[in-house]
Amino acid sequence: MYDLIIVGSGPAGLSAAVYGKRAGFNVLVLEKNSMSGGQVLNTYEVDNYLGLPGMNGFDMGMTFRKHADDMGVTFVNKEMTRITDAGKYKVVTVSGGKEEQIYETKTVILATGASHAALQVPGEDRLRGRGVSYCATCDGAFFKEGTVAVVGGGDVAVEDAIFLARFCKKVYLIHRRDTLRAAKSLQDKLFSCENVEVIWDSVVEEICGQEQVEGARVKHLKEEQQVLSLDGVFIAVGLYPNTEIFKEVVACDEKGYVIAGEECTTNVPGIYVAGDVRTKKVRQIATAVADGANAVVSAEKYINSFV
Ligand code: NAP
Repeated sequence: MYDLIIVGSGPAGLSAAVYGKRAGFNVLVLEKNSMSGGQVLNTYEVDNYLGLPGMNGFDMGMTFRKHADDMGVTFVNKEMTRITDAGKYKVVTVSGGKEEQIYETKTVILATGASHAALQVPGEDRLRGRGVSYCATCDGAFFKEGTVAVVGGGDVAVEDAIFLARFCKKVYLIHRRDTLRAAKSLQDKLFSCENVEVIWDSVVEEICGQEQVEGARVKHLKEEQQVLSLDGVFIAVGLYPNTEIFKEVVACDEKGYVIAGEECTTNVPGIYVAGDVRTKKVRQIATAVADGANAVVSAEKYINSFV
């Protein structure tokens, strides 16, 4: 019987693992991928995490993992396929080889993260982290005085374009329709930015460049195709939480995020949630790491309530 099983090994999961060990728990981390770090691994450089400025995303993932390893955390490279609430304890089923394997634990922290929707166009994957980004807050500063495009028409795309307009020379907002989905107040701000140009009714067909983004081939749905010269492309076409496996077990909002506040408690006693997978305003490494700590403190209170 574990004290704590953490599902996911991004910043939230690894932070929870370190705090869990510090609390004297018998901790197991389940990780689906062969490497820890989560979305950080796909980030070329992280410049907004306190104390580690300009660190390569891969190195940051490895640094976080080493901290957990040094604390003696046990990692298992297996995917959770089911979680069952058996009252005072939880049963976590994982896939592995021919047979399923079962772990019992007093508490679980769900830290499975969220994934950015992709455009699925040529060049996107190859140039990810080389000018293609899914996070303007994280990567925008690398494009000072540059020319960038944001793809999408929702709140995130419009907020990203406004944010980037503060320090980029030129920002294109490329949207597939002739009206934005974003809130009116955001649209008003966007239209007041002199260096933002909205390209309506248009889709990106290819992101071009050898080593780095150099441009994008954009198809106007009613007119000619055009090629834009760009330093960066920010894709903001939606985010989806990785909650498929447990959305019937814990309460989620209409978009699929696990409903939880700063204490990271779900509607099920003994099951906690940390990081991008929970309802929250700001999804950043710093907020994920904070969640890891909060979730363990909540789990500790729960375990102590039985003593
Ligand atoms: P979203 O509201 O779902 O918007 C996604 C945008 O991407 C839409 O404009 C959509 O176009 C476009 N899109 C989707 N797939 C595409 C594709 N394959 N190619 C081109 N364009 C594509 O998602 P979001 O902007 O990430 O926001 C997520 C949620 O967070 C929303 O509920 C939002 O309201 C909320 N949020 C709120 C705030 C705030 O209150 N300040 C800030 C950020 C986010 P269509 O419009 O044509 O569908």
